[in-house]
Amino acid sequence: MDNRAMYEALSIKGEVYDFCEKELDGLSDRFREIDEIADFNQLKVIKAMQDAKLSEAHLYGTTGYGYDDIGRDTLEKTYANVFGTEDALVRSQIICGTHALSTALFGNTRPGDEILCPAGKPYDSLEEVIGIRPSLGSLAEYGVTYRQVDLCSDGSFDYDGIRKAINEKTHLVEIQRSKGYDSRNTFSPEEIGTLIRFVKNIKPDVICMVDNCYGEFTRREEPSQYGADMVVGSLIKNPGGGLAPDGGYIAGTRDCVERCAVRLSTPGLGKEVGPSLDTNKLFFEGLFLAPTMTAAAEKGAIFAASVYEHLGFSCHPKASATRYDIIQAITLGSEEAMVAFCQGIQAAAPVDSFVTPYPDDMPGYDSKVIMAAGAFVQGSSMELSADGPIREPYNIYFQGGLTWPHAKLGIMMSLEKMVEHGLVKLP
Ligand SMILES: *Cc1c(COP(=O)(O)O)cnc(C)c1O
Repeated sequence: MDNRAMYEALSIKGEVYDFCEKELDGLSDRFREIDEIADFNQLKVIKAMQDAKLSEAHLYGTTGYGYDDIGRDTLEKTYANVFGTEDALVRSQIICGTHALSTALFGNTRPGDEILCPAGKPYDSLEEVIGIRPSLGSLAEYGVTYRQVDLCSDGSFDYDGIRKAINEKTHLVEIQRSKGYDSRNTFSPEEIGTLIRFVKNIKPDVICMVDNCYGEFTRREEPSQYGADMVVGSLIKNPGGGLAPDGGYIAGTRDCVERCAVRLSTPGLGKEVGPSLDTNKLFFEGLFLAPTMTAAAEKGAIFAASVYEHLGFSCHPKASATRYDIIQAITLGSEEAMVAFCQGIQAAAPVDSFVTPYPDDMPGYDSKVIMAAGAFVQGSSMELSADGPIREPYNIYFQGGLTWPHAKLGIMMSLEKMVEHGLVKLP
């Protein structure tokens, strides 16, 4: 049996297979670039583990209070090494990315302080954390105010607006690296560095924090190496390497991380408590796998963009663009196409492949949303997944893939479903 027949056994017809394989021929240079970055980052992670003197004893966990959890402490040292920071907080008690970001914001602001988003609005779930949308327990209820400067119409930073927005109350600046569900570009670490330098020139003691979700390991450097005081992310995205069952990280200056720690646990206890339970091995091993897994996801994103651009769909970023995160937006133009695409991604999943996704209402959204995921970890978007709100311009957001062959199968299956429903014609 050859590969073509194996794809056929998974319902990919010959014409789709041939079209996709031909598309791949043109991508070898791009893939080599991605592999070189993965190479660099794999070595960076190994060196971080060696420098932290990781040993077998660190792979076991503690229970109860979690005092003297040498595995957890070594993990945090390893993360600090990877991100080039003084310290890090990496815990399974941090439930998700939003929780990590919320901990960083609550930990590092006090009543009367103001948070500034100088590059447009923060991630949707932070609107309730900050209180942009009134919400029980938000920072607004604690007297922390908020200000935002939108990007210029050409997508650049509005430096004049930012200068005017910085005032005596401005205490913390939050910058989201990935575009998320926005239509802007994802910022490179260099661009974020330029913005941070500008802000610190005006007010040197402002804390600059970066929402690093989806961006980790896509480049050789992280925003923390470009002046960010804190980088924050989720372990069920890139740095968890698919193995972390939950968790989040905050890497940054010793003071910032300490303030996060006392917020996450309690004043007086800080980093000293927090049992790792059975997560140390998974967090270490996941971090070890993260660079190549991020590369697999990026290859999937580039392949998807290449295939769908060829078929006349608009893709963001473009197949040829340099990538700073793992998300691929494809403008599919209709509800039917979004449904077919998602049903393809679902049909390619190792888990729940027999489930058929349909659009449905979701709390916090004003339109129906469709989602496809068959993941080993609930909600993990490091695993192959696709989602999007059913509204103009009918964008699907595609991300993840723990292995490149799986990402490839997912894209082929999405196209297969599109072809079966007569939504695209192969050239
Ligand atoms: C995923 C994500 C978050 C946090 O989301 P959780 O679902 O809480 O993990 C925050 N910001 C960005 C840009 C994200 O992609």
